[in-house]
Amino acid sequence: MHFASTRNPQPQVGFSKALTQGLADDGGLYVPSEWPSYEPSRLEAPENHEVLASLAREVLRPFIAGDALEPELEAMTREAFNFPAPQIWLDSSQRLGVLELFHGPTAAFKDFGARFLAAALTRLRRAASRPLQVLVATSGDTGGAVAAAFHGHHGIEVSVLYPKGLVSPTQEQQLTCWGGNVRSFAVRGRFDDCQRLVKQAFADAALRGRFELTSANSINLGRLLPQTAYYWAASLRVARAHGEPASFVIPSGNLGNATACVWARKLGAPIAAIVLAHNANRTVPDYLSEGTLRPRASVATLSSAMDVGDPSNLERLSALYPDAAALRGAVSAVSIDDEATRGRIRADFAHYRRVWCPHTAVAAEAYARLAPEVRAHGRWLIVATAHPAKFREIVVPLIGESVPMPENLARLFDRPSSTTEIEADVEALRRAL
Ligand SMILES: *Cc1c(COP(=O)(O)O)cnc(C)c1O
Repeated sequence: MHFASTRNPQPQVGFSKALTQGLADDGGLYVPSEWPSYEPSRLEAPENHEVLASLAREVLRPFIAGDALEPELEAMTREAFNFPAPQIWLDSSQRLGVLELFHGPTAAFKDFGARFLAAALTRLRRAASRPLQVLVATSGDTGGAVAAAFHGHHGIEVSVLYPKGLVSPTQEQQLTCWGGNVRSFAVRGRFDDCQRLVKQAFADAALRGRFELTSANSINLGRLLPQTAYYWAASLRVARAHGEPASFVIPSGNLGNATACVWARKLGAPIAAIVLAHNANRTVPDYLSEGTLRPRASVATLSSAMDVGDPSNLERLSALYPDAAALRGAVSAVSIDDEATRGRIRADFAHYRRVWCPHTAVAAEAYARLAPEVRAHGRWLIVATAHPAKFREIVVPLIGESVPMPENLARLFDRPSSTTEIEADVEALRRAL
């Protein structure tokens, strides 16, 4: 199987090259050049994470066929999918449920993709002479998932850049508690400065001479493709138990998670509707309703991991559905403000005794706003992207009860933390590295 840029059908590259490069040379994002077909009846519907790993292996197999990493597929999926993605019904009629993607080491769905990418890049480094330097700019969640996934992996160094004073205490601990091959830098600036620094580092001759540089954000195919596995898993489970396809409501920012769901459906997974739930950053809902794409600066919201004004993976969706009319036929999108997000956290805690993180609450509110006849059709799953304990400062005052830390998160607080403060310029980064 080959992959090509969203901007040009040629050249085509293999799986390993697409993962190592991250971004295509022409600035586009890698997408599959063809869509394999599966026999869904031959795929197992997992109840536990061992079966999720083996399903991921079957789903990814055609994409990696013929690549140097093919013999490693089983080991890589076992490493990445070593925690479950349970699906829990919220009502006795089993028409509405939640797909929990937050049982990994940093309690967010990004653990799946980051762990798969780490497993793949580590194997690709075995023959290399220079260390690989993974640079990640983060506003909170991505950096933690990437740091956890790469920690202790030989031949790879990770540098996490985050804006000093602008991440939550829980997030900061997740960025700074690793040591070893993972370093963190508190940049005196904003998230945009961190992102600019990473871009400048890629263009810096001195740094490129010392390291091979790569990035691990959601433009990397190695994070996106494995995410299709949990959509296959959930939709197969629903289809087999209830004879109906599953519909998903997905908290969305850069659209990596949503693109994985669209791809799973394109590959034949029994998925009906896909709803993109955005916060006040309404570029995508506006594009679908107005027909013109107007990227803009992001605004800060409670669901900070979704504060994206120019979603990078829209380019991948547009490769399949080139204009707003075509995309409207594939997905719907809605924008939810902070007040409604708070209200939904309160309401669903009162009604279901379930605690949502602010991102998941955006999806829960998007579901509640669907027309009753739409909700009555088929089975619906709200995608829960993070554990609420990561956002205690927001959630606890709303529900008036404490939110216990899951064990995996609590363990990170036992580790000592250390970080290096740097100025927001590439000279300072070069010295620090
Ligand atoms: C990153 C993130 C999102 C947004 O996912 P995208 O793939 O960027 O759309 C939603 N929720 C949480 C908790 C996240 O960390």
